[in-house]
Amino acid sequence: MMKPVRSSTLVTRPLRNGDPRTAPATPFQSDDDFPLPQTRELLEDALFAEKERAQVTLKCIGDAVICTDISGKITYLNIVAEKMTGWPLQEAAGRPMVEVVRILDAADRHTVRNPMTLAIEQDQIVHLSPNCVLARRDGSDVAVEDSAAPIHDRHGRITGAVIVLHDVTLSRTIAADAIRSSQHDSLTGLPNRVLLNDRIGQAIAIAARHAKSIAILFLDLDHFKNINDSMGHSVGDKLIKRIGTLLAESLRITDTVSRDGGDEFVVLLPHVERAEDAAIAARKMLLAVAETHSIDSRDFHITASIGVSVYPDDGTDAETLIKNADTAMYQAKQNGRQGFQFFKPAMNVRAVERQFIEEGLRRSIERDQFALHYQPKVNLRTGAITGAEALLRWTHPVRGPISPAQFIPVAEECGLILPIGAWVLRQACWQARAWLDEGLPATTVAINVSAVEFRDGKFLEGLFAVLEETGLSPNVLEVEVTEGILMKHAESAATILHALRASGIRVSIDDFGTGYSSLSYLRRFPIDALKIDQSFVRQITAAGEDTAIVSAIIGMAQSLKLRVIAEGVETSSELDFLKAHGCDEAQGYYFSRPVPPEDFATLLRTGLPKNLLDA
Ligand code: C2E
Ligand code: MG
Ligand code: MG
Repeated sequence: MMKPVRSSTLVTRPLRNGDPRTAPATPFQSDDDFPLPQTRELLEDALFAEKERAQVTLKCIGDAVICTDISGKITYLNIVAEKMTGWPLQEAAGRPMVEVVRILDAADRHTVRNPMTLAIEQDQIVHLSPNCVLARRDGSDVAVEDSAAPIHDRHGRITGAVIVLHDVTLSRTIAADAIRSSQHDSLTGLPNRVLLNDRIGQAIAIAARHAKSIAILFLDLDHFKNINDSMGHSVGDKLIKRIGTLLAESLRITDTVSRDGGDEFVVLLPHVERAEDAAIAARKMLLAVAETHSIDSRDFHITASIGVSVYPDDGTDAETLIKNADTAMYQAKQNGRQGFQFFKPAMNVRAVERQFIEEGLRRSIERDQFALHYQPKVNLRTGAITGAEALLRWTHPVRGPISPAQFIPVAEECGLILPIGAWVLRQACWQARAWLDEGLPATTVAINVSAVEFRDGKFLEGLFAVLEETGLSPNVLEVEVTEGILMKHAESAATILHALRASGIRVSIDDFGTGYSSLSYLRRFPIDALKIDQSFVRQITAAGEDTAIVSAIIGMAQSLKLRVIAEGVETSSELDFLKAHGCDEAQGYYFSRPVPPEDFATLLRTGLPKNLLDA
């Protein structure tokens, strides 16, 4: 039987002249090898067929095939190898392999150990280490992958080696793109949360080793939703993109500006010496956002709020640091937006509580968890009940009653005060209607209105619609607003107040004295009454300066011809003082706590105990 032809017979030695790829192979090394003449022809045929097959294969395959002799000199390159290395076989033949096939590590550009040398040394197939490139003759690179194998003669002696190189540029580019897109935000091209977390992890490791700090800045655009809603998402997207670029430009190259969606950017400052460094970066970011942004030939102005957390004080892992920076950002918004705020541990508790309340409030109307209680206002000369203030009560299914001081600010922030306020108005008007229908003594019903409701363009419309629905005369209704509404939104407030006055609805200023409004200021608005804040009333018996404030407010109200009502009256000495100074009306636990409507009806029917005013 014929001996199997070893792969070594494929190896062709270069000829001085002509292309070795077409030269006939000379597999017989010595005369001893010569077979008998009759088998010789058969063998030569077999060898020829084998060689042909090898030649065709080598020409057709898409991989580079390179052979060396045992001393590492090039003996063969197929056409793909010529193209890949930039060396024609004619020139490469006889040169040391390392000169023609330079394989480098892609990451550090160091030459890797020549796989052919290894294959020869170890007499086995060796694979290239991953992530290698071939440095071509013209200096460019090509990403390669593959293996080298020793070549043996028919006695099993190593005569050289063959390396097969596979061009993996495309698959490496695809892989690199896939990694890139999984780590970057598609709109801005900035790192996303995945990459940010990774970088924070690295920064923490370095900072921990050198006892240094890092800072996380959480930036959220103020009222970005308005732009998105009014101008459309395409404008919103362009604005986000531009702000991303400006933020990145405003910081150091070593800082990471990331975005994972929405109008939030999270920034990592990996080297922070003092807290002030983070403050400087925050100020730069605020300035970058505050620039005029021209988009689709329109100018936009926007501001941002930033929260800052610092490693290691505010957290020792990426998740905690980002969460705490977010909480601090929320606080920055509370503080009036367009500013930055460092995280403080107490914020967390508040954030959790706030979240609890907001979630609870979302379903509170439909689940019937609200009720109105009514507290009487008493005429201090006659002792008659002149009105009722409607005060909202919320009973949480798990926690029980939650005070308005806790939930009203949350409802105002998240906008839920609009449906809640509308519910209060409707409920109070129907109640007033019911008392009238019962024939009870006439009383005004006052509702508290928040700034958010006042700013809502539909406030008046909603109010008149409810009056019509309930058939209630407008002069039964009173609206309590705080000084803040008048001071911060003077123009719109004046318009609304005039409309209320024109329709016969009364307006009183609640918590008066806490907002520092001036006398001249009050003259600009059509107001019926001032309610002295209970903090001043509380000071009456303690004497001191606040007594002067109460008498000054009463005097001022009288000069402006405004009714004056003292809030939170609890004791007879407070009452005496107020009566003595000519205060018109009072409200407080001394007369009655806020009570459910049926109890208030009883109060209206029977009146307050006669001796209460004589105390
Ligand atoms: P406010 O309008 O100044 O209401 C007076 C608050 O003082 C009420 O607190 C009332 O229960 C309380 N109060 C009355 N008399 C006394 C007293 O003698 N001593 C003491 N210590 N407190 C007294 P409440 O019901 O907890 O409401 C707090 C605030 O929540 C209200 O202050 C008002 O600003 C707001 N609020 C209540 N209901 C509503 C509502 O329906 N809508 C809006 N927007 N705000 C409301
Ligand atoms: Mg009030
Ligand atoms: Mg008040």
